[in-house]
Amino acid sequence: MKTYRIDQHGGPEVLRIVDVEEPIPGPDEVLVNVTHVGLNHLDVWVRRGVDSHPFPLPLVPGSDVVGIREDTGDRVALHPGFGCLKCEICKHGRHDLCRHYQIRGESINGGMAQRVVVPKTHLMPCPIEPAKAAAMPLSLLTAWHMLVGRARVRPGQKVLIQAGASGVGSLAIQVAKLHGAEVAVTASTERKRERCMELGADHAWTYEEAKTEVRSWTQKRGVDIVMDHVGEATWKQSVRALARGGTLVTCGATTGHQANIDLRVLFFKQLNLLGSTMGTMDEMQEAWAAVTTGAIRPVVDKIMPMTELAKAHTMLESRALAGKVVMEQNL
Ligand SMILES: [Zn+2]
Repeated sequence: MKTYRIDQHGGPEVLRIVDVEEPIPGPDEVLVNVTHVGLNHLDVWVRRGVDSHPFPLPLVPGSDVVGIREDTGDRVALHPGFGCLKCEICKHGRHDLCRHYQIRGESINGGMAQRVVVPKTHLMPCPIEPAKAAAMPLSLLTAWHMLVGRARVRPGQKVLIQAGASGVGSLAIQVAKLHGAEVAVTASTERKRERCMELGADHAWTYEEAKTEVRSWTQKRGVDIVMDHVGEATWKQSVRALARGGTLVTCGATTGHQANIDLRVLFFKQLNLLGSTMGTMDEMQEAWAAVTTGAIRPVVDKIMPMTELAKAHTMLESRALAGKVVMEQNL
């Protein structure tokens, strides 16, 4: 069968289509005919390589996979991340903390191929349009774990989402609203801010506006939760926006990973600083249930043939997109 494979890190040209042996499912595994694979920024990191983070090359990319089970003909979506399900941590349901936690297309082979073999425990139902389903699992799990699992968002709380129009941000708006929070976002362009409002945000500001608007929105109190994955560029502002006892949760550092905090602010204001990455398999199921009912929907900008993966990567890197890119099977 045909599959994309990264043999060495580099530019989009390292995304090569190769012929490999047909995968054969073992016990408790199924063969899935891949129909759609959503792209994430993770795909760019995996392709380029990251200092001091080895990826197991050669590697098949693709984390967000939707396809059809060979044995039953059912459409399925695949868990993007999973624990070993055997260790004590996994037995306590904290798959995200498992030492053997794996991300599809990052630490094990992904789904940018004609077919994949996966354990039955990695399957989720797919009751919505497959291209839309493929645009969500990884970023939805990330957003859900940040807001629900880590920051414990509650009804009536005020939540500020930095970069609200991003893949994670646009889903975080909906997760926060679903949990009864009031939501404000920052976004750089008018078009992005409009998009955030359409997704349910109560306020959408430029980064500059947010500095003063947060104060009037909260009657100078500050927000209960700030969700940030921008990194250095927004860190100072994110800390400043917090109320006493407020929580800053971060899952990324796109603009740089060095951050400072005045320890006096940290303890006097009794702030909570939380790191977050991926989430548990139970959280994925919970979040997926909200997708099934239509409470959460993705923003898909483009659906492209899978053979145009290199072009899609270039578009992703140019940041010209206003939503997710989903690759459609044509290998
Ligand atoms: Zn485990």
